[in-house]
Amino acid sequence: MTLSVDQQAEVDALRAQSQPTLRAVSPGIEQHLYSAIPVLDHGFVRVIDYMGDDAAICQAARVSYGKGTKSVQNDEGLIRYLMRHWHSTPFEMCEIKLHVKLPVFVARQWIRHRTANVNEYSARYSILDREFYIPAPEALAAQSVVNNQGRGAALSGDEAERVLRYLRDDAMRAYDHYEEMISQEGQQGLARELARMNLPANIYTQWYWKVDLHNLLHFLRLRADAHAQYEIRVYADAICKVVADWVPFAYKAFEDYRIGGATLSATALGCVRRMLAGEDVRQDNSGMSAGEWREFQQLIGPSQA
Ligand SMILES: Cc1cc2nc3c(=O)[nH]c(=O)nc-3n(C[C@H](O)[C@H](O)[C@H](O)COP(=O)(O)OP(=O)(O)OC[C@H]3O[C@@H](n4cnc5c(N)ncnc54)[C@H](O)[C@@H]3O)c2cc1C
Repeated sequence: MTLSVDQQAEVDALRAQSQPTLRAVSPGIEQHLYSAIPVLDHGFVRVIDYMGDDAAICQAARVSYGKGTKSVQNDEGLIRYLMRHWHSTPFEMCEIKLHVKLPVFVARQWIRHRTANVNEYSARYSILDREFYIPAPEALAAQSVVNNQGRGAALSGDEAERVLRYLRDDAMRAYDHYEEMISQEGQQGLARELARMNLPANIYTQWYWKVDLHNLLHFLRLRADAHAQYEIRVYADAICKVVADWVPFAYKAFEDYRIGGATLSATALGCVRRMLAGEDVRQDNSGMSAGEWREFQQLIGPSQA
């Protein structure tokens, strides 16, 4: 279970109280506030707080005195225009604060996104829980033979069992030693800040992560993408659902222009124009490298959906 009984009671208590406010409220995200969305085997994402909604993006773009809403259609059209033309600052007017519980090796990828504010659980001050990410059998994959930075088919049979056993046994042994080293009984006890160094990277950590909508969408574009590692992608997928409920117009525009859309180089655009004019365009007369041509073919080829 992701949350303990006490932690769930705290969430329930927070969700039981409400207060009137003059601030903009997004009904879609209110349903998520404080609740933990489970991710992986022990992880979660919780919305702790947010600021702004779709109207706030338009309000900022128009530097409006009022709500900024001319009409719902106007707002959606304006948001699409801003997204299409990379006008990022109105999206920065919305913010979200998340509580995330995630394996340390996922946190290492996540923390590379520098445009957020982070406060992490202190393993110098507190004792880490005995919680390790152990992949589900279908996520226990072999090294990809075509992509050095990826995985291929799932392991099976004896090999899968052996790998799972190693992962579990190593984690438990390391945690047993961690506990033994910091234990106070009959010994001085090693400082927590030192004892933690023998723990493997699949142990869970937690942080509060606050980011504006513009930078969050950038994070989601990179980490909800098929090239991102599965273990961070599932967090990005969970956050995508929250953002779709929070700022539905902005999320729809993001899906259309960023997730589903593509940027073409001048050379590639020239090739599209030549193709539309009926010219036989091949890699050798395209002006593109083999890699660029392959990616271009994937872009303009039949939809994978
Ligand atoms: C599939 C994938 C594979 C990856 N593989 C590797 C890898 O092998 N090795 C590795 O080291 N990393 C890797 N990364 C991490 C990647 O290189 C970026 O560090 C990470 O995605 C954060 O992106 P960002 O810098 O755009 O985001 P943020 O830090 O959130 O920054 C957002 C934007 O703000 C601007 N910005 C922020 N800080 C600065 C600054 N100091 N100066 C100038 N502009 C700034 C930039 O425009 C930046 O794009 C990988 C990422 C992905 C998604």
